[in-house]
Amino acid sequence: MLWAHLREEEFDDAIKISKGVCAMAVGCLEKHGQHLPVGTDTLEANKVLETASEIEPVCVFPCFYFGDIQGLHQHKGSVILSGGLLLSLMTELCDEIARNGFKKILLFNGHGGNIAFLNNFIRTTLYRKKDYVVYTFFNNLLHPSYMLKVIQENKERFSYLTREDLDILNDYVVKKKTDEHGGFCETAGMLGTYPELVRTDKYEAESSASTKRFDHLTKAGIYTAHFWNADYPNSYAGDPPLNVNERIGKAYTQMAVDRAVNVLRILKNEEESLRFNEEWNRMW
Ligand SMILES: [Zn+2]
Repeated sequence: MLWAHLREEEFDDAIKISKGVCAMAVGCLEKHGQHLPVGTDTLEANKVLETASEIEPVCVFPCFYFGDIQGLHQHKGSVILSGGLLLSLMTELCDEIARNGFKKILLFNGHGGNIAFLNNFIRTTLYRKKDYVVYTFFNNLLHPSYMLKVIQENKERFSYLTREDLDILNDYVVKKKTDEHGGFCETAGMLGTYPELVRTDKYEAESSASTKRFDHLTKAGIYTAHFWNADYPNSYAGDPPLNVNERIGKAYTQMAVDRAVNVLRILKNEEESLRFNEEWNRMW
């Protein structure tokens, strides 16, 4: 059920069928090496969410491309909004979703850099009384070790994976390869959703190694917002996702959809958060 595809008279039914749940994929426009498109985080999260909503119907709001990528001005394709505008925009979008009758709003986050922004945002929703509740879920990365465990438990379902595919996954575990920005998980996620947008010949077009310029600070637990740009000037980090293919991408995406279906199901069937919100509105 896509918000933008509904006709006006269909909204009342959509609210009933979705039990008041409306979900929005929240991503960003950010460089991911030279092998993935700048819309990666948004595209993948939105596709996973839309697919999950076909299994467990909820209303899917148009995805949000303009999440938090402060400081990445030097890369073409970046779109950077100020922090204050981001908070205002998210506040007004959620107010509008709720005004239309959806009282449970899920922000289905596809970008690690949005975690701080969205956690901050949902705290700000408590500044005023609202007749709705906002939830966040991070469409977190599914590491090869997790994938191998799921495959082991559901051999038939993933029988299209070859011996070589399993070796590629095992390699990550045995050789302790790292999965970071633009790495195995994000590449597998894109190969499972938009394979035509992945340039598998560009995995090593630029270095994904850290320059270690800020190690003296991060190792001491000191954080500065310049860390990412200084350590990863190509906006690419960890081991390059060599050999990751469309079959692995398909399995990855199936697992991501399963997890999203579970999240939608829990939200549709739980009543405590709206009940508490009503109590809280009467407390002050
Ligand atoms: Zn990403």
